[in-house]
Amino acid sequence: MAANGNVKGAEPLDFTKFQNVINGKLVDTKETRRTVNPSTFEELYPVPVSSQTDIDEAIEAAKKAQESWANVPWAERAQAVKDYADALEALSEDFVKQLVTEQGKPKAFAQGELADAVKWLRQFAEFPEPEDVLQDDDKKKVITRYTPLGVAVGIVPWNFPIQLSAGKIGAALITGNSFILKPSPFTPYGGLKLAELGQRFFPPGVFQALSGDDNLGPWLTAHPGVDKVSFTGSTATGKKVMESCAKTLKRVTLELGGNDPAIICADVNPAEVAPGVAFMALANSGQICIAIKRIFIHESVYDDVLKAMVAFVKSLKVGDGHEEGTFLGPINNQQQFERVKNLLEDIEKTQLNIATGTTKNVGEKGYFIQPTIIDNPPEDSRIVVEEPFGPVFPVLKWSDEEDVIKRANNTDMGLGASVWTRDPQQAERIGRRLKAGNVWINCHGEVQPNAPFGGHKQSGIGYEWGVGGLKAYCNAQSIYLKRSA
Ligand code: NAD
Repeated sequence: MAANGNVKGAEPLDFTKFQNVINGKLVDTKETRRTVNPSTFEELYPVPVSSQTDIDEAIEAAKKAQESWANVPWAERAQAVKDYADALEALSEDFVKQLVTEQGKPKAFAQGELADAVKWLRQFAEFPEPEDVLQDDDKKKVITRYTPLGVAVGIVPWNFPIQLSAGKIGAALITGNSFILKPSPFTPYGGLKLAELGQRFFPPGVFQALSGDDNLGPWLTAHPGVDKVSFTGSTATGKKVMESCAKTLKRVTLELGGNDPAIICADVNPAEVAPGVAFMALANSGQICIAIKRIFIHESVYDDVLKAMVAFVKSLKVGDGHEEGTFLGPINNQQQFERVKNLLEDIEKTQLNIATGTTKNVGEKGYFIQPTIIDNPPEDSRIVVEEPFGPVFPVLKWSDEEDVIKRANNTDMGLGASVWTRDPQQAERIGRRLKAGNVWINCHGEVQPNAPFGGHKQSGIGYEWGVGGLKAYCNAQSIYLKRSA
């Protein structure tokens, strides 16, 4: 167990028993299910499978609790989120262990995820209450306030279950909403513990969590008692969420898939750039929405960059996330493993050139895939067009700036994009024309909690984080104060 010092509310949690959190209580369900450790296939502890009745109870409790939570002053709500962040930090060692076991990512990456979760919660707690004074003179005062929407539901995927949950929890609670967390059925454990820990800081019903099977998400998005759904996941599911939410006009934020390009220019130092780019294609075994998924390399440095990338990739250790020195853990679950294997079969069938790696199965236990680079495949091949969400990526050649911008933008996705060059003018010239919610120069995937994060095109609707991310949990209300009647 982690050493907790004197941090308020940071007594250890029991990571052997996992329950729903409804109205301040830990609740069992009639039915349970288990997931497996993706490195070893070892069965993990039972988790609840929520019924429609559990959902009704949680939503009723959330509705009731929200009315008084909304009247708690902003500063007090912010303090509760800050205290919660401190306790999460004190217990992070236990959360890290659980995250490696259920998600598969290497320990150092799990530690980074926990640190980010704490950072995001703290940043939200620092934002002042948003209120805009539009006019203030002797005739009238006009103010825009931001009032809570009511009951918010956060639906999260399995790739960053703790950080993505924290981003939703902090924003929803600080703005005076009640919040129900629905973790992915592939990574339910840490999410349930986040809510259990929350009971030490928030009144009953304000922060709840429900775990379940594939019925749970659709039940929540259809429920008339929910006012807002913040969804992070695939574009295909995002469309279903929006369709379901439309029936009761729920507010929705959708953070969806990506197919991020990186454009490497002629003036780079291959030895410096290649590891940085390959890192962001392979971190979390490629299971990042903003992983680099298409690498366009200028033809004059193509061979050198590819050679340096291959050398870097060959040095990376694939294995159990609990083992020292592992860089690539397994794919998180069987469904995704089959998807990546299917893509590898297509690569083999279409006889694409493999610069390093293999299309063959690796080992008998664990969803492991060797990092694999595909050398200059046709632009319409599946590995270029689809989001692999695994440690497999294509490198492509370019020669004309105008043409590479067009090719980089030639996708329905628009989450992230990067330009790698020593020439600031070229960086800006290309960067400003990329159609993506996040554009990076000489880096990729660096995000921070005070900057809006969202996708263009089919990568999402709305955005999270930053002050605007808080406002996405609010209604805008304009107040007109006339000085005399
Ligand atoms: P997914 O869409 O399969 O599932 C995401 C969540 O939605 C899970 O909790 C799941 O149980 C739930 N869900 C499934 N069907 C539902 C339905 N009909 N209604 C409501 N909820 C439903 O996604 P995944 O496989 O867990 O995650 C991988 C995807 O997520 C990738 O496409 C990745 O790019 C994307 N992603 C995006 C971001 C972002 O911020 N833009 C971040 C991480 C991951």
